[in-house]
Amino acid sequence: MNRIFLSPPHMSGKEQQYIAEVFESNYIAPLGEFVDRFEDNIRDYTGVKHALALSSATAALHLALRVLDVGKDDFVLASSFTFIGSVAPILYQGATPIFVDSDESWNISPTLLQRAIKKAPKKPKALIITNLYGQMCKLDEIMAICKEEGIYLIEDAAESLGAGYHGKQSGSFGDMGVFSFNGNKILTTSGGGMLVSDHKEWIEKARFLSTQAREPFLHYEHKEVGYNYRMSNVLAAIGVAQMEVLEQRVDRKREIFSLYQEELKTINEIVFMPAIDDSRGNRWLTTITFRKSNPKKIIETLERENVESRPLWKPMHLQALFDETLSVEDGTSQKLFEQGMCLPSGSSMSDEDIHRICRTIKETV
Ligand SMILES: *Cc1c(COP(=O)(O)O)cnc(C)c1O
Repeated sequence: MNRIFLSPPHMSGKEQQYIAEVFESNYIAPLGEFVDRFEDNIRDYTGVKHALALSSATAALHLALRVLDVGKDDFVLASSFTFIGSVAPILYQGATPIFVDSDESWNISPTLLQRAIKKAPKKPKALIITNLYGQMCKLDEIMAICKEEGIYLIEDAAESLGAGYHGKQSGSFGDMGVFSFNGNKILTTSGGGMLVSDHKEWIEKARFLSTQAREPFLHYEHKEVGYNYRMSNVLAAIGVAQMEVLEQRVDRKREIFSLYQEELKTINEIVFMPAIDDSRGNRWLTTITFRKSNPKKIIETLERENVESRPLWKPMHLQALFDETLSVEDGTSQKLFEQGMCLPSGSSMSDEDIHRICRTIKETV
């Protein structure tokens, strides 16, 4: 039987045509028409005023922290239940993370966030939240806390492009927002990222830092350290083609979630990831937990059937890398990690694929 992947790339068919245009122009470089177009597309779609195409979301988060002048004496709050790329840039800057656990929404808990702010040795400079698996976190409460405390909010929307809350696009809630176009995300450029903000000077500064912090002289003049973080024009061409089908991808991902829900609803053991009121998640991955069964057994059984599935993210406060790191946790994300899993959710998968997977899960449970 052919392999079903977790979330493989899903091309629209236009990508190669746009890449051919790049080749004709010979802008095989980290700049060019498609980089500009891709940035424009993201600005138009999210309603954020400024956008910067980069080599990855991890690079975008790094630049966000650099621009906010987060350094070695600073503390940065972050969702614990997330992927490492969301928080590694805190360490790149020599700053200290403080991890905050989830609540019943699976996303960061506003109550524990307030506790973490009180517990911090000094006022944290920024908060990085993740909209986990494409579902929005409680941004009303979180934004209010950040405003009240004077803490910058960075929205890691790497998984939530196309999701919305109160009719507003994910990525547009924080002081800065970040998207990923890695191979497994809802849209992909094979690898890539985007930094967005309404603050023009921040995006300009990030643009400068992303191109080796080269001062505006004909010769090569440098006053501070920069990075080589720009996105290739070739990859941006893929991104422009992918943006044309974003709505279709979100619709299909949401449909896949509903199909799983429908087929598995007779199994009391299974609980699906919730979504908060007045939000529209992109259901990047359909994720579930089991009340009693061990997801490892299900993952192994699916693997024998040539189906790729995965555990949920292992929380940051449980990682050896962060053994010594402050966290405010109450066991919520640990329990989700131990009892949960991600189901194959590629927008190109067929309804028959879903039947096949559900049959296996039912038999195993
Ligand atoms: C994928 C992901 C990242 C990293 O994205 P890259 O583009 O691969 O660097 C960061 N945060 C979250 C939540 C992610 O899922």
